[in-house]
Amino acid sequence: MKIYLDGALVEKDKAVISVFDHGLLYGDGVFEGIRTYNGLVFRLKEHIERLYKSAGAIQLNIPITRSDMADAVVITLRANNLKDAYIRLVVTRGPGDLGLDPRKCKKPTIFIITDRITLYPKEFYQNGLKIVTAVTRRNLPQALDPRIKSLNYLNNILAKIDAIKYGVEEALMLTSDGYVAECTGDNVFMVKAGNLFTPPVSVGALEGITRAVVIDIARKTGITFSEKMIRPDDLYSADEVFLTGTAAEIIPVIMIDDKVIKGSKPGSITLRLMEEFKKLTKVDGVRY
Ligand code: PMP
Repeated sequence: MKIYLDGALVEKDKAVISVFDHGLLYGDGVFEGIRTYNGLVFRLKEHIERLYKSAGAIQLNIPITRSDMADAVVITLRANNLKDAYIRLVVTRGPGDLGLDPRKCKKPTIFIITDRITLYPKEFYQNGLKIVTAVTRRNLPQALDPRIKSLNYLNNILAKIDAIKYGVEEALMLTSDGYVAECTGDNVFMVKAGNLFTPPVSVGALEGITRAVVIDIARKTGITFSEKMIRPDDLYSADEVFLTGTAAEIIPVIMIDDKVIKGSKPGSITLRLMEEFKKLTKVDGVRY
């Protein structure tokens, strides 16, 4: 496996970074998870844009242009001869000293891993996923804005541990005042009386690329959509609930905590969106 590391392609066991890298010491850095479908990179431009936006939010200057970054992704994919891949694109503050001061880090580290994708089992897509509400609340946007896709993912990992304790794969994360924010690695949507809703990202959620694709499909297919502040009770009584993410795509939810979502099977709007999403991934993307 070839890894892109600071401008060169190196073998996996040679792809090493300093123990003084602040990405490791402090989670000081940003990243993206990108997906390819049969030789097409899905929404590459949007992912690169979000990476630079996250970097900007932590005042990290990425030393290469967006276009060179996109080329680096493509070069890495080609070198690994992968048709269906998951891409992890990481930019750290780079090596510094043991203090926090980012000014001591002279050169950001950039690496790109392309690997096979690991998916949720098929039956979750057919029968739906069970999730729980995490005890851990989502980071306050005023403290560490969840819109920044930073290497600092402990908030999500603690919620993931909550999920694991209950024997499920995903956990719903609430804001400090009890509104639905998102899941540990996915955005959340609900359908009520034929209308589609998701929380605004300003509550404390990542502005998911898949979320944006779903909103776009909804608009194009005449499904009424709006952003809305959502309480767990609203989700419990929804007609349909589903999650969105680059790795998960669109995945139906049939149970939250001990509450069964209506019908206890994926709903018709969810299935329609899944179908449209699948069509898009076959034609829409950067060929490599
Ligand atoms: N929320 C969080 C916390 C995430 O980490 C992710 C990405 N895995 C998402 C939502 C979904 O975002 P995207 O559709 O861009 O993958």
